[in-house]
Amino acid sequence: MTEYQKEQHEALEMVRKYLSGLTADELADLGAQIAGYLSFRHDVDRFLEKHFNHLCTETCYRSRLSACCTREGIITFFADVVINALRTPEIDIQLLDERLQLPHQGNKCVYLGEQGCLWQVKPLVCEMFLCAKAEKEVLANNPRAQKAWETLKLRGKSFRWPDRSVLFDSLEEIFIAAGYTSSLMYLHNSPGLLRVKKMSSEKCIRQ
Ligand code: SF4
Repeated sequence: MTEYQKEQHEALEMVRKYLSGLTADELADLGAQIAGYLSFRHDVDRFLEKHFNHLCTETCYRSRLSACCTREGIITFFADVVINALRTPEIDIQLLDERLQLPHQGNKCVYLGEQGCLWQVKPLVCEMFLCAKAEKEVLANNPRAQKAWETLKLRGKSFRWPDRSVLFDSLEEIFIAAGYTSSLMYLHNSPGLLRVKKMSSEKCIRQ
């Protein structure tokens, strides 16, 4: 396994272990915490389906050339792993984990299977990625869609950008409190994001 595969695998193992020890009530509580995020993802899916389906089917799926999925190391937040595990049957998580541990070949994403992405709720970075061609062909000529996309991008940021209390941070905290630590916990180990958090808390104290 590459370093990237190892850190992804370790994060997934942690999440599986923690979730497997929760009671039904605790799982329901976690499910309630991510409900707003899932609603946002539903809205993004609907938007992409409405405006981009035709173009992406032609450009990426038929030609088998995808601008995002050809990268080996897409950024995944720890919260992405948690949310996906909460929404995925164990048998499919098992398949994803097995795929992750296969020797990596070529320059495609380690999560890309024969039928497409193996995530049920794919990483936020992937969800919000639009290639330059798609942006130009669809959004450049449609100001309303452009505006709606900007609004969705802001909503997406509100779950992961720690200038306030955000879901991606609180999910990491739950696992840290339970004794886990992962290099994917960017809200707790990225110098840039830690700076944003610090500035935000200093601002709150001043107010
Ligand atoms: S995680 Fe899924 S959507 Fe994201 S790059 Fe990999 S295969 Fe593509």
